[in-house]
Formats: sequence, structure tokens, C-alpha cells
Amino acid sequence: MAEKNGEVQEIKHQEVGHKSLLQSDALYQYILETSVYPREPESMKELREVTAKHPWNLMTTSADEGQFLNMLLKLINAKNTMEIGVYTGYSLLATALAIPDDGKILAMDINRENYEIGLPIIEKAGVSHKIDFREGPALPLLDQLLEDKNNHGTYDFIFVDADKDNYINYHKRIIELVKVGGLIGYDNTLWNGSVAAPADAPMRKYVRYYRDFVLELNKALAEDQRVEICMLPIGDGITLCRRIT
Ligand code: SAM
Ligand code: CA
Repeated sequence: MAEKNGEVQEIKHQEVGHKSLLQSDALYQYILETSVYPREPESMKELREVTAKHPWNLMTTSADEGQFLNMLLKLINAKNTMEIGVYTGYSLLATALAIPDDGKILAMDINRENYEIGLPIIEKAGVSHKIDFREGPALPLLDQLLEDKNNHGTYDFIFVDADKDNYINYHKRIIELVKVGGLIGYDNTLWNGSVAAPADAPMRKYVRYYRDFVLELNKALAEDQRVEICMLPIGDGITLCRRIT
């Protein structure tokens, strides 16, 4: 309910689907223009602009989240990392720029073509040697990694930003691969704000389809005693999970 001209009015459900979860677009723009764009590395700016011309650009990590990931990785001194869901590589570049020169990113995506859009920019930035890109669905790759016990508990940071209907399956596996004390970031856990929207609110088809999976994941993470969690309203929501056992 809202009050207008002294009258109480019923608020009609708004379609969910805005990139920013902040109440005001102007406030989000203020964040971008005041503290994100002025400090964005030239290579990330170039990749963001190239990606903006791609038809699936909705999938890219936002610049404020890229800045957050870059700082987070430096704060935790991440060296051995993994990314599931690369697209054109904006979060990958944010990671590659943050980790040391001998740091590693095992990057997985079913689509190499989109990765190759960003690759020349990543190469020009001088960080492509840190990336081991594997084309293909992530689940079998994770199973392969798990077969070798030497991989268990070795990752400082794992960023999951791929098919939301598989996040629970990813969690089952990567919890074994991340170090105790290491961090997993699950992206889009506020799913366009749809997680808190009434079931009958208008939603794009893909938002509605994945909503239940995201709701299920959020519940499962909150109950998982192997991790401490923190859900942040950056981008489309990111849940950080710190492995404790
Ligand atoms: N992190 C990226 C960025 O910063 O631009 C965005 C990733 S985009 C939201 C999701 C990606 O997941 C797509 O590139 C898609 O090809 C990939 N993907 C979808 N299903 C996958 C799967 N089963 N295994 C690996 N990657 C998958
Ligand atoms: Ca994302």
C-alpha cells in the first residue's frame, strides 16, 4: 500500500528485472560515475564497451560488481581460483588483474566463442597466462577434478555465474575443492529481485523459470553448516560462502 494525495492506493506489482537492486536508478548511476568508472582499469572499460554491443550483454557482470570482486580477491590474497560461467570475460578479467602474476584461474564455459570476444583484450592487459580456459559443461569437469584428491581443498576462491539450475549440483562439488577458509561466490542470488516478488508478479520467462532454483539454493546455503554466508545486494546479488569445515 502507498499513500498519494492523502489516499491509500494499492501498489500494482512491478515487473521485476532491473539490473540494479537499488531503489533509485539515480543512486546506482551515482555509484558508477563517482567511484566505479573513474577507477575502472582501461582494459575492463574496453571489455565492458565491447560486450555492450553483444546481443547477450545482459549476462555480463556489472562494473560495480567487477570492482568489488577485484578488491575482494586482493583482500583474501587469492591465488588459485576458479570461475564457472565466463561469457566475454568481464569478471574473469577483474579476477586476473587482482591475483598475483603466478596466480591461476580455471575458467569454464560451454561457449568458447564469447570468451574469444574478450580474449584479445585480456591478452593485451598481460594477464592471459593466468587463465586455463576449458570449453564444456562444468559439472563433468568438476567431477574430473574431484577424482584427483590432490585437487581437494586447494582453491582460494570460486566464482559461480553459470546455469542457475545447477548451482546446487556445483555446490556439492566445489565445497570439496575450495580450501577451508576459502571463499565461494554464488552470483545472481537475488535473481532480478524475483526472490522476494509475489509468485503472480509479472516476470520474464527466464526469470520465472530459474526463480525456484535460486530460492532453493538460497535456502540450502542458509542451512549449510559447512559454510558461513553473507548475501550482498551488489549487481544481481552475490552470496559469499566461507568454508569453515
Ligand atoms: N561471469 C560472466 C561475466 O562476467 O560476463 C557472465 C557469465 S554468464 C551470466 C553465464 C555463462 O554461463 C554463459 O556464458 C554460459 O555459456 C555459461 N554456461 C551455461 N551453462 C553452463 C554449463 N553447464 N557449464 C559451464 N558454463 C555454462
Ligand atoms: Ca551474473
